[in-house]
Amino acid sequence: MEANRVYNFNPGPATLPLDVLKEAQAEFLNFANSGMSILEISHRAPEYDAVHQKAKADVKALMGLGDDYEVLFTQGGASQQFAMIPMNYATKEKPGAYVLSGSFAEKAYKEAEHLGVGTIAASSKEEDYKHVPTQSELKIPDYASYLHVCYNNTIYGTEYHYVPETKGVPLFADMSSDMLSRPIDFSKFDFIYAGVQKNLGPAGVVLVVAKKSLLEKSPEELPTMLKYSTFYKKDSLYNTPPAFCIYMVGKTAAWIRAQGGLEEMAKRNKKKADLLYGVIDASEGFYRGHAEKDSRSFMNVTFRLPSEELEKKFVAEAKEKGLSGVKGHRSVGGMRASIYNAMPYEGVVALTDFMEAFRKANK
Ligand SMILES: *Cc1c(COP(=O)(O)O)cnc(C)c1O
Repeated sequence: MEANRVYNFNPGPATLPLDVLKEAQAEFLNFANSGMSILEISHRAPEYDAVHQKAKADVKALMGLGDDYEVLFTQGGASQQFAMIPMNYATKEKPGAYVLSGSFAEKAYKEAEHLGVGTIAASSKEEDYKHVPTQSELKIPDYASYLHVCYNNTIYGTEYHYVPETKGVPLFADMSSDMLSRPIDFSKFDFIYAGVQKNLGPAGVVLVVAKKSLLEKSPEELPTMLKYSTFYKKDSLYNTPPAFCIYMVGKTAAWIRAQGGLEEMAKRNKKKADLLYGVIDASEGFYRGHAEKDSRSFMNVTFRLPSEELEKKFVAEAKEKGLSGVKGHRSVGGMRASIYNAMPYEGVVALTDFMEAFRKANK
């Protein structure tokens, strides 16, 4: 571990690759020989344009997508996408269909419901969101304008391990917390978005990767900044983009490519998740995972301890050991270790070593 740094298990903003942070630091005062930092340079400058274009190209290359898809950078967080999607694509006659698999999926649905253009295709709420609804549980109306899924449920620690078959209904996915963490057949999706502060960069920008045919045209009556077509037609440069965030996403995407791409990320992420879930499963009930095995997330590992008192103690002692941000979300309770792309294997070894010692001392 780098001196003075901790293993950061926070869900987002979250740990970023150390190489990326160092690179940004090294060129901070004089970016691309401009004599300015990336924070100060014009978004119309050629130095910035190179960053913008390369970030887009690297993201598309990692996803293996062709010319029929475009990459946009928008703002307002993933939460604003919850509203923009139904505003741009759903109507009362052709509502958006939503799969409820956790808190963010619910929030997305609520925005559509608020506009009177949402319907529910499946829900695992009754089962405390311990799993994501299976293909056979999905009831997708054939008149729906899209099916919306939340691919990784950051709070509950569940993740899809299949791509929903929609019989022609466009597939939309919130991939905020597992974007670019493993190879997926992205061409089966029509619209993907991710607030980047989980796995790809600092808070402040949303990555949208969608079919051009969806982005070309937006309803006339919408305000300019709420139309996807505004971002599409102006290459996400209609107004000032969050240049520093896009620069960091670009650096992270280039880092992923240099490490060996999504196959390599998947290999590393699975190794980390296997180690952590293995320790939970072998703990004789001391640690209890929230997610059912077939829905376990490779990104956010949620588990409980025998009592809330022990959970408090666990968080405090972990912090002393340089293991930061392991407290779970208040709605689930317990612990959550977020082990995104940038979390090194050694970080999970340190966490599981601590977990073993803590169990022995407190059982
Ligand atoms: C964090 C998160 C969000 C909310 O993102 P903001 O950028 O804070 O609006 C939405 N969906 C998922 C899956 C998330 O993890």
